[in-house]
Amino acid sequence: MTAFKTLDDIGDVTGKRVLVRVDLNVPMIDGAVSDATRIQAAMPTIRELSDKGAIVLLLAHFGRPKGAKNPTQSLSLVMGGVEDVLGHSVMFIPEAVGEGAKAGVAVLAAGDVAVLENTRFYPGEEANDPAFADALAEIGDLYVNDAFSAAHRAHGSTEGIAHRLPAYAGRAMEAELNALDAALGNPAHPVAAVVGGAKVSSKIDVLRNLVGKVDHLIIGGGMANTFLAARGVDVGKSLCEHDLVDTANAIFDAADTAGCTIHLPYDVVVAREFAPNPPTRTVNVHEVAADEMILDVGPAAVEALADVLKNCRTLVWNGPLGAFETPPFDAATVALAKTAAALTREGSLVSVAGGGDTVAALNHAGVAADFTFVSTAGGAFLEWMEGKPLPGVDALRL
Ligand code: ADP
Ligand code: MG
Repeated sequence: MTAFKTLDDIGDVTGKRVLVRVDLNVPMIDGAVSDATRIQAAMPTIRELSDKGAIVLLLAHFGRPKGAKNPTQSLSLVMGGVEDVLGHSVMFIPEAVGEGAKAGVAVLAAGDVAVLENTRFYPGEEANDPAFADALAEIGDLYVNDAFSAAHRAHGSTEGIAHRLPAYAGRAMEAELNALDAALGNPAHPVAAVVGGAKVSSKIDVLRNLVGKVDHLIIGGGMANTFLAARGVDVGKSLCEHDLVDTANAIFDAADTAGCTIHLPYDVVVAREFAPNPPTRTVNVHEVAADEMILDVGPAAVEALADVLKNCRTLVWNGPLGAFETPPFDAATVALAKTAAALTREGSLVSVAGGGDTVAALNHAGVAADFTFVSTAGGAFLEWMEGKPLPGVDALRL
């Protein structure tokens, strides 16, 4: 289905040096890895290659050292976290290219795992300098990319190297690409998209791309206010980008042309102050007072949206429907997420979600594990939603 080589195609790797691009850009607190999710995501690929007898060489970036060596952004700092997750000791090689890297790799045996130094210590990484990609390719025999989250960048370790060595998608990359293909590449119709979050301005390209691809576009969050304003609704003190009303109208027109139905809330939860548990009112969108803010989609609209999802086969979700961090403005997001989760469990819906706050909201609703796939890729997920090419993925294409 996917036009990529995967680890199923890699053949005999015994004693071969396999460069594996992973995401080790983990958060740290007091010198320790505070969330190992990204390390865990790379484990299936690392274990499979190690078990098959490869010499596994992990390539990654850490922070933004901007092409210069910086001890505070050395990958040596995450070695404890890598060893904890892998369950055994892992060698650190304090270079990513050159004689030092070669010497470090030369002492490794089949099945060993090592981490090479931060690729962004070298200016050629972010510049995608051919000489740097050549130098990386000299360290290994094969290349595996398991870092979808870095695939929106054409860097030496994500793009350049893939043209120089036999290149394969790792297991996490494969799972992500299959999920994204099922959501927007070759989805079962009808397809619904939920797009929420604070601002239209951060997601104009997402909305433009989606109207041409999905049957139902559900707009929630602060950005719905701009679309409501474009329809002549007075949104009071709500977050609203009045300068983007023309953009909103262009998206309405594009949706009309494409046969995509745009769903906006018709009831909303409003408050005079943005604080936990303030006095609220649930009103029709035409009844928002001049001193009130829309902070969540209302219950009647949520019920109608649940009916839309019941008739859809595929859902892609980015952005919360309300200011979900502040109770009670999490209600619509939680309710619709639970509906999507139940439909997914019943087998009637393929549900794919992504985005930093969206993942937090689905975890808050307790349903992330029920979705078909939840992407933690952040920027790469959004660029995919925008329909932009992902250089790290394109370089793996057959
Ligand atoms: P993601 O990180 O998943 O892409 P965004 O960053 O675009 O999502 O949007 C999330 C933010 O949008 C949250 O902080 C949430 O509080 C905010 N938000 C949602 N609805 C509203 C609203 N009606 N008014 C103000 N902020 C909102
Ligand atoms: Mg966000």
